[in-house]
Amino acid sequence: MLARWETNGDSLKLVRRDSPGHRTSITVRGDSIGCGFAIIAGPCAVESRDQDMRAAEVVTACGVKFFRGGEFKPRTSHYAFQGLRDEGLRLLGEVRSKFGLRIVTGVMDAELLPAVAEVADVLQIGSRNMHNYPLLEVAGRSARPILLKRGMSATVQEWLQAAEYVLLAGNAQVVLCERGIRTFETMTRNTLDLAGAVMAQSNTHLPVIVDPSHAVGVADAVPALARAAAASGVDGVMIEVHPAPESALSDGQQALSPEEFRALVPQLRQLADLSGRAKEHS
Ligand code: PEP
Ligand code: MN
Repeated sequence: MLARWETNGDSLKLVRRDSPGHRTSITVRGDSIGCGFAIIAGPCAVESRDQDMRAAEVVTACGVKFFRGGEFKPRTSHYAFQGLRDEGLRLLGEVRSKFGLRIVTGVMDAELLPAVAEVADVLQIGSRNMHNYPLLEVAGRSARPILLKRGMSATVQEWLQAAEYVLLAGNAQVVLCERGIRTFETMTRNTLDLAGAVMAQSNTHLPVIVDPSHAVGVADAVPALARAAAASGVDGVMIEVHPAPESALSDGQQALSPEEFRALVPQLRQLADLSGRAKEHS
């Protein structure tokens, strides 16, 4: 199907969905995104061995297979915690081997990609880098799946065009992630564009997931938005969870506590079942 808002039919020729059944999924060591409802969870940033292991325990105990955690944090303020970098990557590698979790972590720079790809099962390109076309091209030459977050001020079309860069460079394993966009609203960190996620999903064959944590920026509101995403029929969610949100070094205000996360996961699975997305949970 040609995206309704598209003016130039060629700019999305690789990401476009050609027929209702045209869908792709990515599979990492037996667990998929795009086939059933996927949950990716973990802290905003890897802060210490203790924090990382405790977060991985919570995620594993809920039956979630994909673990997120940033080692290089693209912070708006230079003075904010920038991540543990090499040590963070090493700790993520430890989580991968100890818990068997699939690691989703960010790559901010083309030069860093090979080192990150040694540990990461899925390479995340963050909102601030969605327009970094040289990085998208290098990601397109990687053998790893790419989780492409929507730029905070990008239209759905610009987001899909960014994905097209990755596919055109040779990597068809792309997951799109809606993480909230900038609007006039100040009550929330961003505005969750669930409509945009649903439109992206219906116009492309790529899996689309929703990150309610960065969208709203307030932990109390995250479960409601995650449930809305699950009920909408998207392919999954990415949620920040921290063993002790009050002492988090980044994004603690939007992180779920272990108890909140444990209560939410079964609700998401039920809603995904109702919206026909369940069969396989990961
Ligand atoms: C993240 O998910 O780690 C992150 C920094 O989010 P975003 O790129 O959406 O701001
Ligand atoms: Mn964060």
